[in-house]
Amino acid sequence: MSEADQIRSNIAKVRSRMADACERSGRDPGSVRLLLATKTVEPERIRIAIEAGETLVAENRVQEVRPKFEVLSDLNYERHFIGHLQSNKVNALVPYVSCLQTLDRLSLARKLQNRLEREGEQLEVLIQVNTSGEETKAGLDPDEVEPFIRTISSFDALKIRGLMTIGLNADPETARPSLASLREIADRIREQNLEGVYMDELSMGMTGDLEVAIEEGSTIVRVGSAIFGSRPAA
Ligand SMILES: *Cc1c(COP(=O)(O)O)cnc(C)c1O
Repeated sequence: MSEADQIRSNIAKVRSRMADACERSGRDPGSVRLLLATKTVEPERIRIAIEAGETLVAENRVQEVRPKFEVLSDLNYERHFIGHLQSNKVNALVPYVSCLQTLDRLSLARKLQNRLEREGEQLEVLIQVNTSGEETKAGLDPDEVEPFIRTISSFDALKIRGLMTIGLNADPETARPSLASLREIADRIREQNLEGVYMDELSMGMTGDLEVAIEEGSTIVRVGSAIFGSRPAA
């Protein structure tokens, strides 16, 4: 099989896993988007996936964002950022993405608000939550999320669209409670009806646990290795 055929076949398999999970949980297949997690993937391989009909792509490293954007600038697709963002990289990232999925601290929110306000722009953001309680994982603790969102809800350049988490890296059933807790946090915040806060997106689920994530309410699954193969060790 050619490399292009392999990527197209992998996408079809992931799409079928997503459809089965939607079917099992009684969800509309149109309510879950597939995001291609493309860290370390060469732009020509990303191109194959976009030309096959995929429309949502995200990087983890700021230095990969612009070069890939330039090579793929003839294509129409949506770009998010899913890596840890250092405050001094804000200006290098903001022009190239429509959504930052990893907002996790006030200093970064301030930096973003200042830059966007100056340019008269807005950015969609998801708040990253550490639902698994692992020390090494980024994100706010669950009980910090609501106060944080209250604080930044007045930052009018940031459109707070929902929450993002990286589930427990274990077998999917073990990850289920942490994924379910993201939805519970979002439900609680939605009930507060905070101005400018939407809570309509839950970004959770990766190659290993996308079915469980969909069953627990994910609206964006972020998939890398099931489509592009395993990555070189970091
Ligand atoms: C790499 C990455 C993914 C995709 O992981 P796979 O297991 O390869 O599907 C999803 N989310 C984030 C934040 C990532 O860094």
